[in-house]
Amino acid sequence: MTDSHAKSAYGQSVADACRRLGYSSTIEALLTLAALEIKVEIPIIRDNGELAIFTGYRVQHQNARGPCKGGLRYHPQVDIDDVRELASLMTMKTALAGIPLGGGKGGIACNPHEMSQRELEMLTRKFVKRIHREIGPNSDIMAPDVGTNAQTMGWIHSEYSSIYGHSPAAVTGKPLALGGSLGRDKATGFGIGIVVAEYARHRNSPLEGATAVIQGFGNVGFHAAQALTALGVKVVAISDSRSAVRRDAGVDLAALSAQKRSRGSLKDTDGHDSIDPEALFEIDCDYLVPAALGDAIHMGNAARLACRTVVEGANAPVTAEADAALRERGIAIIPDILANAGGVIVSYFEWVQNLQRQIWPLEQVDDELTRILGNAAREVLDHAGEAGLDLRSAAFDIAIRRVKDALDATGI
Ligand code: NAD
Repeated sequence: MTDSHAKSAYGQSVADACRRLGYSSTIEALLTLAALEIKVEIPIIRDNGELAIFTGYRVQHQNARGPCKGGLRYHPQVDIDDVRELASLMTMKTALAGIPLGGGKGGIACNPHEMSQRELEMLTRKFVKRIHREIGPNSDIMAPDVGTNAQTMGWIHSEYSSIYGHSPAAVTGKPLALGGSLGRDKATGFGIGIVVAEYARHRNSPLEGATAVIQGFGNVGFHAAQALTALGVKVVAISDSRSAVRRDAGVDLAALSAQKRSRGSLKDTDGHDSIDPEALFEIDCDYLVPAALGDAIHMGNAARLACRTVVEGANAPVTAEADAALRERGIAIIPDILANAGGVIVSYFEWVQNLQRQIWPLEQVDDELTRILGNAAREVLDHAGEAGLDLRSAAFDIAIRRVKDALDATGI
């Protein structure tokens, strides 16, 4: 993904919010610039015996409200601009959720699908060796993102702990065996269900019988489909990077998972019609959930969208221009910093459990997530209604005010 639009969309959202809130251009600059940007070259010996060098980044955007927090992405198109923009979105996400963390993000430009487990482990451990002085439980806490998973976090935990002693709170999204939290896997998709439920309640529109279309069958897409189905929503179509299927009675997630495992694609799953992935966004539905990559909804397809509401499961899936075009058409957008905040909130629970040497039961994780994310959703919906704003603007107002309050309290 490029997430390139996030630059302008994020910058514009910050500029607009600062104007509404009467904040100076210096505050705007503080919210747009990153506090620390790290770039490292990581040489590893490939399985074929050749030396390869990968470039890794870690950006710490803001820590006024707490240690920086954000994912680590392995993707060929990772670059410093993407990482910086994604780090700044994390500052807004943690502030909007009201959890005591700041914003960070990292990435390594590589294709994890073309690397062996040994190569990925070497790459991850060497990355930690390069940047360990700048990360840790009180400074910057990494988590999984596109192309990384619990195993990657396990390697980070092991490498960091070999230097500083057992330090589970230095990284989240770890395997359960290493201090990971119950409920972290499903947290982002489950959170999408919490936010959509609040949104529907606020609008007095029942979820039973409502319809949804989901782009992406990874961690977020799959768990969002599960959560929405549990709320009575019919998920009528879903896609992965190469295929898409439709079933008007509601997709069968177990059958799709089995097909994906055995065939590597959703295509030709029994009882489902295979459709052109390009046509996915044109299906009439109440909720469209882009849960794959950034920039999925752009000026090339915005006019063809046939949904009532876009729920941003992915980070920055709607370009700035498409955002304006959709609003013009009366299509509401539930912004990423609210819709997909479930993941970072449960990462926060994992950090708290590790610091306190506790293990929370799943019910406690789900209840606390529902409370915190439900509150954030209600605040955004109320503020949007009172101030006559779209949901993204309302969310940025609340988040930016919280970061500014923390900056003020530090004496800046
Ligand atoms: P993932 O790697 O588990 O899944 C991504 C899915 O998208 C895969 O199924 C892939 O096949 C699919 N995909 C890729 N290109 C596609 C395309 N063109 N059309 C349709 N599908 C396509 O990643 P994930 O963790 O589910 O993350 C998805 C998005 O959500 C990313 O933007 C990520 O930053 C964001 N996000 C993830 C979390 C989390 O907790 N995992 C939290 C917040 C935000």
